[in-house]
Amino acid sequence: MSERRRDPLSGQWVAVAGERSTRPRVLRLPPPPPPPPAEACPFCPGREEPDTGIWREEGQAGWIARVVRNRFASLDPPGGVVAPPPSPDTLLQRHRLPGRAEVLIEGPDHHARIGWMPARHLEAAMRGQAERLGALAAMGFAHVAVFRNQGAMAGASQPHPHSQLVASWDEPPTLLAEKERFRDHRQRHGGCLLCAVVEAEAAGGRQIARGHGFVLLAPWAGSHPMELLLVPETCAANMSGVRVEGWAAIQARVDRLIEATSPGAATNMWIHQCLAGSDPFHWHAHVVPRQDVTGGWELATGWKLEPVPPEAAADLYRAAWDATAPVGRT
Ligand SMILES: [Zn+2]
Ligand SMILES: [Zn+2]
Ligand SMILES: [Zn+2]
Repeated sequence: MSERRRDPLSGQWVAVAGERSTRPRVLRLPPPPPPPPAEACPFCPGREEPDTGIWREEGQAGWIARVVRNRFASLDPPGGVVAPPPSPDTLLQRHRLPGRAEVLIEGPDHHARIGWMPARHLEAAMRGQAERLGALAAMGFAHVAVFRNQGAMAGASQPHPHSQLVASWDEPPTLLAEKERFRDHRQRHGGCLLCAVVEAEAAGGRQIARGHGFVLLAPWAGSHPMELLLVPETCAANMSGVRVEGWAAIQARVDRLIEATSPGAATNMWIHQCLAGSDPFHWHAHVVPRQDVTGGWELATGWKLEPVPPEAAADLYRAAWDATAPVGRT
């Protein structure tokens, strides 16, 4: 059975068509290229460039997490700290997109993966994330995109564990759309949209687990197969008050959960939050194991095709959840 569903957070409609996942597939994606050798990795200890370092936390045998300026930033210019003038209203609008891009190297071990690295390394990295978020907000940036690309299919260019912080002077379209939905919900019903979603899902079939201060859901109308929504139990517009140990632990556990259910999948994680302002918002993270390619029907219609019903995804994740429990701290 096929149906349309609306994502309460983004307002986007998706098409849930469970039978799609059982269709015969003759054409397959090529395997990802082999990762570059560790000898060429710019994030490994011993290859630090002195002029790019921004923050680091030291362990007993050298740094265990560090932040560097991204030398290949997608925004222009790196380190720009002056907001651009507004663009004139014309048919073909153009606007400079200055900002600041930083890379958070989440441990010294090139071959580690966040689900299995020592907890103290990921916790140190999350302290760096919090510190840089605060610093970028204090510079006056309107938005900082916090995300992790893991694997070539997810857009990563380096296998060494890392995530990114990209600051901009404008809030991006995805966040603006979600903020509009939060405002609309408050006006119509009062209260927080995402708290209402979490409450509704507690009785539904899409809550996967609660733990480490977070609720894990298979979203009602996610845009990707096996998508996860990670919601802090504490309602806050941004992550400035998050407990680092819990935040690191839930990310590691979700990484193990994805590997258990989609072995070898590349993964994207991104955070939605409001740095400032009085708009109603509840920060959260989207996590997606990348196994889909956008086809012509989706491009033509804007309806994302969801071949795995979220209820089926939640069943798979729940069955694997207990086996992902941490086995001990190192
Ligand atoms: Zn490396
Ligand atoms: Zn809330
Ligand atoms: Zn979101």
